[in-house]
Formats: sequence, structure tokens, C-alpha cells
Amino acid sequence: METLTTEILVIGGGPGGTPLAMATASAGRQVVLVEAGSGLGGTCLFHGCVPSKIFREAAFFKYRAEKSATLGIQDLSGKVKLDWNAVLKRKESILSARSTAALANGNKISSLKIRFGTARFLNAQKAIVEGPQGSIKIEFEKAVIATGSVSRKLDVPGAQLSGVLTSEQLIATDHIPRSIVVIGGGPIGVELGQMFSMMGSRVSILEALPELLASVDQKLSSRLKILMEREGITVRTGVQIERIEEHQGLKRVFYSEAGKECFEEAEVVLTVVGRSPQVDSLGLENTQVRYASRGIEVDESLRTAEKNIWAVGDVTGQPMFAHWATAQAQALASAFLGRPTTFPRKELNSAVIFSHPEIGIVGLTEDAARKQGLDVGVAEYNYAVDARAQIADEPEGLLRIVYRRDDLTVIGVHALVEGAADLMGEAALAVSTKVKLSDLARTIHPHPTLTESFGVNALGALRTLT
Ligand SMILES: Cc1cc2nc3c(=O)[nH]c(=O)nc-3n(C[C@H](O)[C@H](O)[C@H](O)COP(=O)(O)OP(=O)(O)OC[C@H]3O[C@@H](n4cnc5c(N)ncnc54)[C@H](O)[C@@H]3O)c2cc1C
Repeated sequence: METLTTEILVIGGGPGGTPLAMATASAGRQVVLVEAGSGLGGTCLFHGCVPSKIFREAAFFKYRAEKSATLGIQDLSGKVKLDWNAVLKRKESILSARSTAALANGNKISSLKIRFGTARFLNAQKAIVEGPQGSIKIEFEKAVIATGSVSRKLDVPGAQLSGVLTSEQLIATDHIPRSIVVIGGGPIGVELGQMFSMMGSRVSILEALPELLASVDQKLSSRLKILMEREGITVRTGVQIERIEEHQGLKRVFYSEAGKECFEEAEVVLTVVGRSPQVDSLGLENTQVRYASRGIEVDESLRTAEKNIWAVGDVTGQPMFAHWATAQAQALASAFLGRPTTFPRKELNSAVIFSHPEIGIVGLTEDAARKQGLDVGVAEYNYAVDARAQIADEPEGLLRIVYRRDDLTVIGVHALVEGAADLMGEAALAVSTKVKLSDLARTIHPHPTLTESFGVNALGALRTLT
């Protein structure tokens, strides 16, 4: 059996574990990175962010091509068709290039050892890895758990039927289903539901809460719901899922809505009802690490209840985003290297939901700010009047900038517009550096771009305040 002794053991090679291992090893620390899968990249690369956005890109191009007449382009070839095998091939080639590059970068760092296999703690100083090359015993000074999350199981009769899929399984599908019932109207359900609808599936979304996308500014989520329904997606909110049954080759999802039993049926059912921290088989019972269903408990410097074990990313619970896992990892690496460190704060996190139009989120919503007792105003801008949105023929959307009334500091930016994803960098900088409405108004934004909406909106709000 191979035995390794190391300063830092990192378990999990996703957007949390990989940058942490590379940053600490690049600075000369002895690091072992263990990954249970066959490549580096984690859920984000193999089953999440990257493949789903490759599909979204194809779906959006198809949608744009079908709409091209509005831009003055005649489609002489007839109906636009999406070649699913070509999309899958493109996905495989991007995934393989990215994981190969990550492994090559890791292998260049002499003090980093990468091993494939499943790690389990024997105690707070020792772990065992079972992998394709046999068992490896690892003795460590510090360990970081970055094992991510897995799809939460839907607990209703029929959830085990074949054709009832998790997001991982739908992303691996070998064909575009004719119809899909999506159970769960959170970010993953909305993204996958809408992109498969654009690719030609008939889609229904069933959500237990009264609104889609519960954590999003409600004005934006309600507007998106209307747009989705206009595109032909059935959306039912405030419903309770009862059971799933086979019916003539289709799946029937029975649910109750206002006390009445209803059903939606489709070729496949996608269940996206949240994600659970991946703690199974980690041997946490052999350590003092504490965890609950929402994730491993960590303090503000990401240390668990076991003093030489830390945790980053999805395994620590919400928010579950790749950039959040990486931000935590980079902060922890900096702390391990003895550098001055500020750990990421949830209220400064940014997020994008790749719906159509996209939703970008940074900082507090109006509701969340008011719940915290803050006296806030909201500057609102309708993209129907925006030059860039009109040029792109994507004029549906709304920008809401939340600011403190006392000193006009920007504390939240929420945008629903196609292109919102690329607006969030400026928004994140604005919120994290506490800019004022006047800073946004004074900034010279290039024309015609969507970024102008920040300046125009801030200026408009300032005019109403003076
Ligand atoms: C469909 C979908 C779409 C998404 N889209 C986005 C998006 O657009 N943007 C975004 O920011 N986020 C997105 N996410 C979320 C994102 O994928 C996660 O937040 C991110 O991957 C978390 O990183 P992590 O390093 O914490 O965990 P993971 O990426 O899950 O990595 C954990 C790794 O640990 C390994 N592991 C587990 N147990 C062990 C063990 N015992 N020993 C060794 N290795 C182990 C796993 O194999 C895995 O590779 C999406 C998720 C899904 C499911």
C-alpha cells in the first residue's frame, strides 16, 4: 500500500478543492489532492455549470436563428434543426480539454500529488483512499473537505421509475426528450426547463413555493414567469407533488393545487428539488467534524469542529455556486499561507441564472434589505428603452438597483435581461466596494452596451432625489 505524508490533504477536485490545492502547492506547501472521479473539475465541469451552458448556447442560437427574420435575415434553407449528437460531441471536447488542462497544470507543481480514488478519514490525522491503483494511506497535518453536493432525492411514490431523472442524468441524455415535467422551479429547474424548451421539448415546471426562483427579486421572477409562459412553458407554483405513475409509455406526475388533484405527463421527469452535501462514506464519524442536512458546520474562517480540518464549497451548504467555492478556497489558501485574509461574505456573493432572459444577482434584494430593517430605495430601469437591448432585439427586462436612503450606497443589483451574466462583474465590484449612486452615474459607460443601464438608472434615481 502506498503511504503519503503531507502537510495539506484536499479531498475533492472541483472548483473548491482544485484551486486550493494548486494555490497552496504553488507556494511550496506539500499537498495531496484526492478526487473520486476520473478527472479534475467536479460537478461544475462534468455535470453542472459547463455542460448546461454548452446546451444553453446551442438552444439560444437555435432560438435566435428561428427569430432571425426580425433582424432582416431570410432563412432560405427552411426549418432550423439542432443536431444533438454534434452538441454532445462539442460538450465532450470542451470538457475533456478543460480537465486535461487542469491535470496538466497540477502535474507541473512539484509539491502537489494528485491521486484518484475515494478518500475516507480514519481519524483526524489519517485517511485512506480506495482507487483504481489500489489503496493509499495518507497522513496529514491539515485536511480540507471539498466534496461538493449531490442531487437531493424526491421522496414520493414513483420517484424510482426509470425516466425520472436527476440533472446529472438529463445532462447525459442521448436525445432531446419530446416532453419533460420539471419538478422544482429553482435555478437549475428553470435553466434546464427553458433550454430544453428552446431545443424543442414540451416543458412543464411544478414548484411547491408560491413563486419560481424563491431567492430572486420577486419583480424579476414574476416577469420571467410571464415570459416563460408566453414561450409555451406550463408553470404551476404552490403545488404539492403526490406521486409519479407510468401511463402508456409516459410518466404522469400527480400534484395537488388548491386542494384539487391534477397531473402533467411527459416522456421524462426531471427532479431538481435541491442539493445535499456530499458527506457519505467520508468517515466523518471518525473525526469531530459536525454536519447537518444543510452541510458541514464551519466557522467564519471555514474551520470545522475538528481543529485541523476545514471545508469549502457546496459541502458547507448554501450558496452553492462554483465561484463561491473558488472564492472560499482562495481565501483559505491565503490563510494557510499566513497572508492577511478576508473570507467571502454571503451578502457580497454574485450569481447568474441562465434563464432567457438571464438573471444577474448581486447583494441584497429590496425584500431582504427591508427584512434587515434597512431604509432602502430602488432605482428601476426598463430595458425596453435601452439602445443595446433594442439593437439585439432582446428588449424584455428590468434592472433594479437597491440603495441605502441615508447615504445612497448601492447594496444590491438585480437584472433580468439577455446579457445580464456579463453585467454582474461591474455590479459585484459596485456592491463590494460600496459605491454610491453618484459613482455609477459619473462612470462613463460605453455606448451602446447594456452597462449604460447602470449609469442611466443611477442618474435617473438621483434626479428624483434632488
Ligand atoms: C445542473 C447544474 C448547473 C449548475 N450551474 C452553475 C453555474 O452556472 N454557475 C455556478 O457557479 N454554479 C453552477 N452549479 C453549481 C456548481 O456546480 C457547484 O456549486 C460547484 O461545482 C461546487 O464546487 P465544489 O468544489 O464545492 O464541489 P464539486 O464541484 O461537486 O466537486 C466535488 C468533488 O469532490 C469529489 N468527491 C466527493 N467525495 C469524495 C471523496 N470521498 N473522495 C474524493 N473525492 C470526492 C467529487 O467527485 C467531485 O469531483 C450548477 C450545478 C448543477 C448541478
